[in-house]
Amino acid sequence: MRNLTAVRGQLLALAREAVAAQREACGLLAAEPSGDWTVWPVPNVLAPNVLAPGAATPAGFAMDPVALQQALRACEARGARLAAFWHSHPGSSALPSSADRYAAWKGVPFYICAPCAQPALRAWVWSGESSSDCFRETPLEGEDTPTLTTPRA
Ligand SMILES: [Zn+2]
Repeated sequence: MRNLTAVRGQLLALAREAVAAQREACGLLAAEPSGDWTVWPVPNVLAPNVLAPGAATPAGFAMDPVALQQALRACEARGARLAAFWHSHPGSSALPSSADRYAAWKGVPFYICAPCAQPALRAWVWSGESSSDCFRETPLEGEDTPTLTTPRA
């Protein structure tokens, strides 16, 4: 992805809107033929806090299956491919929750946007296992690698 800064900004804006709406936000990231990624929000059809009743912040998401199918077909129609899924964590860190393994697809990166945390955006890959350590962190696609500079005398 060449446009990580723009994608990060869009995901943070969607995550903040979702906090105001008392929900998690979710969707997919599409890799366009140009090399840029686009953010596709998909409606969260899960009732707020169904996974954590009584929680102070909204928890859980389930992508609308019809909207998800439409988004995937629209990507395919213009030559884009599914690059990752994303969702937000309104009041916690960008670490996968125990419920996240039910939403992850093996081999598809899983971006979590947590506007109240640092770092606010992290990427994970699910191993396909159900163990507690079934997610491994992966670099954000297109993230600049730190460059070591040599001090000049
Ligand atoms: Zn989650």
